[in-house]
Formats: sequence, C-alpha cells, structure tokens
Amino acid sequence: MKKILNYINGEYCEPFSGDWLDNYNPSKGEVYSKIAFSSSVDVEKAYKAAKEAFPSWSNTTAEERSNTLLKIASLIEENLEELAIAEALDNGKPLSLAKAVDIPRASSNFRFFGHAITQFASEAHESVGLNTMNFTIRQPIGVVGCISPWNLPLYLFTWKIAPALAAGNTVVAKPSEITPMTAYLLGDICTKAGLPKGVLNIVHGTGPSAGQAIVSHPDIKAISFTGGTKTGEHIARTAAPMFKKLSLELGGKNPNLIFADCNYDKMLSVTVRSSFANQGQICLCGSRIFVEKSIYEKFKTDFVAKVKELKVGNPFEADTNIGALVSKPHLEKVKSYIDLAKEEGGKILFGGNQVTVEGSENGYYLEPTIIEILDYQCRVNQEEIFGPVVTIMPFETEEEVLKMANSVKYGLSATLWTSNLDRTMRVSKQLESGIVWVNTWLNRDLRTPFGGIKSSGVGREGGFEALKFFTEAKNVCIKYD
Ligand code: NDP
Repeated sequence: MKKILNYINGEYCEPFSGDWLDNYNPSKGEVYSKIAFSSSVDVEKAYKAAKEAFPSWSNTTAEERSNTLLKIASLIEENLEELAIAEALDNGKPLSLAKAVDIPRASSNFRFFGHAITQFASEAHESVGLNTMNFTIRQPIGVVGCISPWNLPLYLFTWKIAPALAAGNTVVAKPSEITPMTAYLLGDICTKAGLPKGVLNIVHGTGPSAGQAIVSHPDIKAISFTGGTKTGEHIARTAAPMFKKLSLELGGKNPNLIFADCNYDKMLSVTVRSSFANQGQICLCGSRIFVEKSIYEKFKTDFVAKVKELKVGNPFEADTNIGALVSKPHLEKVKSYIDLAKEEGGKILFGGNQVTVEGSENGYYLEPTIIEILDYQCRVNQEEIFGPVVTIMPFETEEEVLKMANSVKYGLSATLWTSNLDRTMRVSKQLESGIVWVNTWLNRDLRTPFGGIKSSGVGREGGFEALKFFTEAKNVCIKYD
C-alpha cells in the first residue's frame, strides 16, 4: 500500500516511530494508503533542517526566490491532472472542482507570491527639524510553522507556504492527516523546482502529535494556522506565553442576505453554489440564508427545485456536483445537526438523508439539505456545521436582518444581494465580518486582505498582509548633522 512519507531536508523519509496511520478514500470508505505518524522527534529533525537552511535562503535575492516559486507554480500546472486526481481521491470532492479550483489556485498562490515579493517595499519617515531619518527593514522571522485543514488541502497549504518562503523564511509544515496526499506530492515538485534542501519541510501526522510539536517548539517563532475555532483556541493558549507571532484563520457561519431588489436569477444560481460547493465544506460557504419576505415563498420553491437537480455521486464522474464528505466522523457530525434541526422545530424542505452511490456503497455521501428554521437563535443556525446543510428564514427590514446576521460568534464572510447602492454601503459597513461579497461569492483577488473577526480568527492573510506577517519590522533611526 502507498506510504505517505515525511519530506525533510529535501528527502522523503519514514517517521522515527515507524508507526503509520490509515488514510481513507471517502468516496469508497476504504483505506487506500498509509500516513507517517510523526512525533516531536520528526518535527525536531524538520526544525534542524529548516534552521540550517535559513541563513542561506534568507540571503538570496527576492528575484532568486521569486524564480524558484514561479518554477513551483509551473510544475503544479504541468502536474494538474495527477494532483487533481489525488485531491479528489483523498478528499472526496468532485474531480472537476479539484481541476477547476483547488490545483489552479495552488499554482496561483506560488505565482502570486513569487511576483509579490519583488514588489514588497518598506517605508521611510524623515523627521524634518529633528534631523533624523527612519527607515523600516522587513526581515524574515526564521523557521516558521504552517498548519492547514482538510477542506481545500493543497490550496490552503500553499496559501501559507508560498508567502512564508517568498519572505525568506524556512518552513516546517503539516497538512491535515485526513488529506495528506497532495502535500506529499508537493515535496517532489519542490525538489524538481530546485528549492534548496531544508527550506520546506513537510511533516505528516495528527494534530495532537505533529501539530502540537510544531506549535510548542520554542524556536519556531511564528505559526500560521487554518482550521477549527476550538483548535485555534488551543493553539493560541500554547503559543501566546511563548510570544509567537500568530495568524489564525478559523471557523465561520456566514450569512447570505437576499433583498427583493436583487438580480434574482444571478442570485439564485450563485446561492446554490455558495451553499453547496465542495459539499458545503468551505469556510466561506453562506450557510445561513435570509430572504426578504416579499420574495421568500418564490425563493423557497425555486431554490429547492434547483438543488434537486444537483447530482450526488462518485467524485470521478463528470456530471457529479456533490461528492463525498471527507470522513465518516464528519458525516456523522453533519447528520447529527440534521437530527438536531428537527428537534428544534426546523422543517426539512429538501434532503437530510445519507445517499448510497452504486459501486461506492460505503462512501460518505449526503443529500444537499435545506432547513427552514423558525428562530435565528437555534443551535443549527448558530453553530458551524461545515457540510451540505443550509438554513433559510424570511426577514422584513434591514435592521432585523442585520441583527440576525450578526447574532453568531463568528465573523468570517457575508454575502449581500441587492441592486441598491445606498443599501450596499449601509449594510456592508454594519455586517460583522472580515469579507463582504456584494452580488457575487468567492470572488478572490489575491491582493486583498483575507480573514475573519470575532471567533473566526486573528490577523489577515493575502497580498502584502501575508508578507508582513511573515516578516519582522525593524525601525532604523539615523541622526544627521
Ligand atoms: P482542525 O482544527 O481539526 O484541524 C486543522 C489542522 O490543525 C489540521 O492539520 C489538524 O491536524 C491540526 N491540528 C489539530 N489539533 C492540533 C493541535 N493541538 N496543535 C496543532 N495542530 C493541530 O480543522 P479541520 O481540519 O477539521 O478543518 C475544518 C475547519 O477549518 C472548519 O472549522 C473551517 O471553518 C476551518 N477553516 C477555516 C478557513 C479560514 O480561512 N478561516 C478556511 C478553511 C477551513 P489533523 O487533521 O491531522 O488532526
């Protein structure tokens, strides 16, 4: 059976313990490979390689680092087919989605930060009268840790690694143990691109073992983490007393506000996608849908009709819209929320059942599920489900919908559908979230700041924000006569 090895100091190697974890293909519910079960010993080995590589990598010119990153981007593109198949097999997502979104975006991450680093500049402040000139040097931090989740495996892994490397750091990274395959394949791509040994080290294994070892390592000075809010809290508790730099991208429960004056057809088709893309397992999915009362009944009928057309099936079939959920425990968690919805008085307008797919009977498939709720404060509408489940309910006024939208502990993204410019400005300013999409969804320009407020995280990724995170600013003050 295929073994997923660590990638340390430019070479693939077995875990020190000699222990392996099962890696499942969620579309079949079968173990198909083994993952290195790494511990603090492997993380220490990775740290030492990264530490040794740091002086030389941090002294390369921005152009040299840029060239290497651009080579990695090109190699990801050249291997798109193989990487997309690996992602679909490991995660259960439709192959078409991996080909159109996950892998192209992983390549864009390297290409974007390869270019961005050549434009990254710092400020100078002259204090006229005091005869001083201040300038800022932005220096790489050293060895940094990058930890990513399973929903967009290579996409989010590279979203952290690319800016960290571009800024001149060396990296110890851990993908989710649930979806390690494309991170494993990335090692080979980095070697082929000529990334010097030890600059990027990839350690596999569980969060409490390998992940915790990275976060608690005294000399790994910055942690960039994307994952659940509970894990984020744990990481913050570990890292804060060591004064590490922390970037935390956490959970979401994003509202989708639909006003009657919107472009209805466009809204309807995008809302199907923002509800169920990637089986609803995107931190930015709009899982709480609020619809203005005058179009509520029409929306309900049309939305259910559109969602009925979605095909739940094998990720490798071209017409599949919704693949498998990532794991059995996750499927059970999502199903338990559907049960809870019924207990809370919710009405299942569509879906709610596990699906048996012919030829993949043990796979983790679930119907896209629409729940009409009575009270916006019910648990199903407040807690992150992270699956193909949305709630819907009507509203009458802007004030009312803003109150409901802002009622959750999360604040990652929000979507607003309206053609009224005044309303766009009023509502966007009052929504408690890091991102507001108006008449669109998941529209990403990589230069923009990305991140959440409240329990959705701390810090911003994207563009120069990411390069600022992965550098330390130093002020140099010169007095002249
Ligand atoms: P988890 O928090 O369970 O895991 C995320 C990563 O952290 C995994 O690599 C995991 O390892 C690792 N980890 C777990 N425990 C620890 C620990 N004690 N120390 C260090 N690392 C640890 O999240 P999921 O993988 O379940 O991802 C889903 C969550 O991610 C959702 O809440 C979603 O909203 C959020 N997310 C947020 C995004 C954002 O940009 N804000 C984007 C995408 C997802 P392992 O899996 O191997 O145990």
